[in-house]
Amino acid sequence: MTSPSIAAPPVPLLDLHAQYESIRDEVHAALDRVIQSQVFILGPEVEALEREVAAYSGCAWGIGVSSGTDALLVALMALGIGAGDEVITTPYTFFATAGSLVRLGARPVFVDIDPRTYNIDPARIEAAITPRTRAIMPVHLFGQMADMDPIMAIAERHHLAVIEDAAQAIGAEYRGRRAGSIGHLGCFSFFPSKNLGGFGDGGMVTTNDAQLAERVRLLRGHGAKPKYFHRLVGGNFRLDAIQAAVLRVKLAYLDGWTAGRQANAARYRELLAAAAIPLDVPFDAGHGRHIYNQFIVRTTQRDALMAALKEQHIGSEVYYPLPMHLQECFGDLGYRIGDFEYSELAAQQTLAIPVYPELTPAQQERVVEVLRAFFAA
Ligand SMILES: *Cc1c(COP(=O)(O)O)cnc(C)c1O
Repeated sequence: MTSPSIAAPPVPLLDLHAQYESIRDEVHAALDRVIQSQVFILGPEVEALEREVAAYSGCAWGIGVSSGTDALLVALMALGIGAGDEVITTPYTFFATAGSLVRLGARPVFVDIDPRTYNIDPARIEAAITPRTRAIMPVHLFGQMADMDPIMAIAERHHLAVIEDAAQAIGAEYRGRRAGSIGHLGCFSFFPSKNLGGFGDGGMVTTNDAQLAERVRLLRGHGAKPKYFHRLVGGNFRLDAIQAAVLRVKLAYLDGWTAGRQANAARYRELLAAAAIPLDVPFDAGHGRHIYNQFIVRTTQRDALMAALKEQHIGSEVYYPLPMHLQECFGDLGYRIGDFEYSELAAQQTLAIPVYPELTPAQQERVVEVLRAFFAA
């Protein structure tokens, strides 16, 4: 079948150029400010970003760190989680969630997802608790928060810590509370493709617990206080001032960009329904603000659909093709194919399509037209 719009321009999965053009002058002024100061690591820009992200997320403290991965690592270190400890988490996530645990000698204990939201299913958590369980690590996947009320209730009942992996969920809400503010610690990523992305790696740990905030701050800088006197064995998990300056400019636009993503998600829902395209669209759990880090569609013909989109120069991506319990590097955990049915099915059937804020209605119509043609064929 020949496409009616073969010469149509490509639609990328994410267009960071478009965002950059809209804030170029402000970003350059902020970068100049840092370069003039010659303060490149931590310092006033990082402190200001920490206050701003904490306030934005409804938290008392924010501690800027070197990446989302390091946010998870240092949060676990602050809780003293290590060898022999178990942490309950989801197998359907980015690698860092489970990887950070294993790096500390702890064991990830996976619990399957709710197949509608792709987030950890709270109803399955209690059965996974053992005397070694120390924490629960829910992930707010794709920009919609996990079902936090039952998770917090279970944690309280069993005296467990809760670490929110909020890398995909800055500004998302659950019953009026923001991602990163409900658990004991929240972990954010400023990887360029996240909703708030820097010009390199960066991350943030948030908390409402003064003691945990102090421990994270210490661990971020080799556990030293004062300099060269080490209370704890930490690491270099510091955030650069250049990243903080860029992120501060962008934070002021984040709500507008989120509104753009939400509008694009709503338009996809309308267009896909109007064209009667047999694709599952994201399930709205109805507990608050979804920030659409990704717009995930689902079909049993996922790989063929992805190839058709690629042929028409439309960006798409599989998040994620192999659940954590089946990763080679976690082989000695002893999990098998079939252990987490819903995660395994999601890994085979889901696909992210472009939803970034600068996506135009014409581009969305083009994406939907290619989807329609695929299912018509
Ligand atoms: C991006 C991401 C991370 C890691 O963040 P980095 O900044 O890339 O280290 C962790 N967890 C989830 C769910 C993510 O999406």
